Amino acid sequence: MAAKGAHITPNIEVKPSLFEVLAADSLNITIYPAIKRVVDVTTAKPTVFGGLVRYYDEFYLAFNSLVQGYYLKQYGGSLAEVFYGLTRLSVRSKTFTTKDRNWSFVVLVLVPYAIRKLEKACASWKDDYENAKHVSAHRQLLFRLLPYVQACYESVKLIYYVSYLANVTKTHSPSLRALALGLSYLTEEEESWSFKDVLHGKVKVATMMSTALLRWLELSAFFLQFIEWWQTEANIGDLSKLPIPDAPEPDSNAKKYANVCPICLQKQIIPTAVSVSGYVYCYRCIATHLQTDSRCPVTKYPATIKDLIGIYTGDDD
Ligand SMILES: [Zn+2]
Repeated sequence: MAAKGAHITPNIEVKPSLFEVLAADSLNITIYPAIKRVVDVTTAKPTVFGGLVRYYDEFYLAFNSLVQGYYLKQYGGSLAEVFYGLTRLSVRSKTFTTKDRNWSFVVLVLVPYAIRKLEKACASWKDDYENAKHVSAHRQLLFRLLPYVQACYESVKLIYYVSYLANVTKTHSPSLRALALGLSYLTEEEESWSFKDVLHGKVKVATMMSTALLRWLELSAFFLQFIEWWQTEANIGDLSKLPIPDAPEPDSNAKKYANVCPICLQKQIIPTAVSVSGYVYCYRCIATHLQTDSRCPVTKYPATIKDLIGIYTGDDD
């Protein structure tokens, strides 16, 4: 692999433009949602392919391992980087060693998988918490902290883009920087063969298969850009639905009168709510009260007999 970067010396080093490295980055993060969308659409029958949807992360982990593993080994870059004609080289030695390759694999394949799992776990803990289920303190801390950590990382990324543009750094992303790798133009000639070679038995079937697969993958990369747009459209559709507002804060007296009528302090007979305050009384108690005082007895909000609502909980007999 050392030969790959041997022709590049610091004097004639050509740095890929920010546009190219950003394009590679954006293609890389598109692959996951794009394939997810294809899986969602094609697996309309949940009984047959339900497992693929449920274990999509694991399916994608396997797929991504194969693809990125191959591209790192063969071209020294991720699928998206190679697609844009880029390859990874060590900032210092201008080579791409086995160690660089293994760490690249960890950052490209394993870390995103772990982050996705963490995000999903946090989302479900947050959901449980909002539905008043018990969530341990450290999990609460984790799901509260996660958005801030992500915002910080995004800011750091932006700083890296700017410093790459200003020629201050040789790498455009914190993750590549952590690996001490930079992106450079891919120069190695790929294996080429013609059908004549095939007829003369010069090309192995395995080579043909792998080339065909790669062409298919690279074509798919174009297709992915289209699916990304499709995905965005779908998200915009969802955005038009406003988020559910937070549940109202309980009133300080709410606990005191839980399951009892605030007037007679017994279990409510014919439970009746005052709609302006939410407190529940016996129908007789509140109706009698409102004849002399047009206010909710607990909150003192103005109320009349017209503001009473029957509560049908099903356990009032
Ligand atoms: Zn009562």
